[in-house]
Amino acid sequence: MSEASETIFSKIVRREIPADIVYEDDLAIAFRDINAQAPVHILVIPKKPIPKLADAQPEDQALLGHLLLVVQRVAAQEGLTQGYRTVINTGEDGGQTVYHLHLHILGGRFMAWPPG
Ligand code: 5GP
Repeated sequence: MSEASETIFSKIVRREIPADIVYEDDLAIAFRDINAQAPVHILVIPKKPIPKLADAQPEDQALLGHLLLVVQRVAAQEGLTQGYRTVINTGEDGGQTVYHLHLHILGGRFMAWPPG
């Protein structure tokens, strides 16, 4: 998939396409992955369209920290008391397919290691 700043996730932020949104604040939004890989599979994204982690800048430091706290909050909201996996795929070798930074929350089952 090409690395354009406009992606389907920007359309979800603007409510132009539907998504099962589970959390939103001024900086971030979280919604269920359309192709769930676990009983709970949620994507946390910044509203700012940073294409991938490697593109984040020093001025994004607070935003990146905020995203991790949103992960923590959403995981608690989903009742993932036994733990969960948080994944950020970056670029081609990382398996990234949507070029709008997103943190996967995977939970509700044991997560094997190493990943594929
Ligand atoms: P990546 O492979 O880039 O780390 O993850 C992209 C994720 O976005 C995939 O898990 C994929 O299932 C999910 N996804 C792609 N398009 C949509 C969509 O339109 N809606 C939702 N909710 N998830 C999507």
